[in-house]
Amino acid sequence: EFVEFNKFFNRIIDRFEMSKSQQVHFKRLLPDSQFFVEIDADKLTQVIDNIISNALKYSPDGGNIRFGIIVQEGFLKVMVSDDGMGIPKENVERIFDRFYRVDRARARSMGGSGLGLAIAREMIEAHGGAIWAESEEGHGTTIFFTLPFELDEAGEWD
Ligand code: ATP
Ligand code: MG
Repeated sequence: EFVEFNKFFNRIIDRFEMSKSQQVHFKRLLPDSQFFVEIDADKLTQVIDNIISNALKYSPDGGNIRFGIIVQEGFLKVMVSDDGMGIPKENVERIFDRFYRVDRARARSMGGSGLGLAIAREMIEAHGGAIWAESEEGHGTTIFFTLPFELDEAGEWD
């Protein structure tokens, strides 16, 4: 189905912003234009829900979560960035493996199964995009994903 991504993304962020219990600030750096993407909206919602709930799980009180969209060569590049504990460099790529969790003890107390990002990678790749992470231990993590997009509903470029 064709979905206007800005509105779709803002709705998901709104839902988390209204229900969050932590003192975490949401900052949106979203362009003021429309981007039509052909997606399975339920699956993309699941992907974004997992990325945001991870960011919240690992955010300290008073931390910021930043949401961004950049347009790059026919793709939207979406990012969700947190000020959390980060991930050791040697483990960053492994967070997309099934059942992988960085710190078993810490992960157990946080709940979850370690499947969220493995499913996210499968779904984003099925949509013709890519997903990856950049992280600095002790400073925070940014998850990026890309999606091919069209400029209008008819799929025409102006
Ligand atoms: P599930 O999503 O299945 O409930 P999960 O959140 O542990 O469980 P993933 O979403 O796949 O699983 O994430 C895998 C692991 O990557 C997490 O257990 C955590 O160790 C690490 N991780 C993911 N996102 C972040 C983040 N924003 N900051 C720090 N670590 C993260
Ligand atoms: Mg998760």
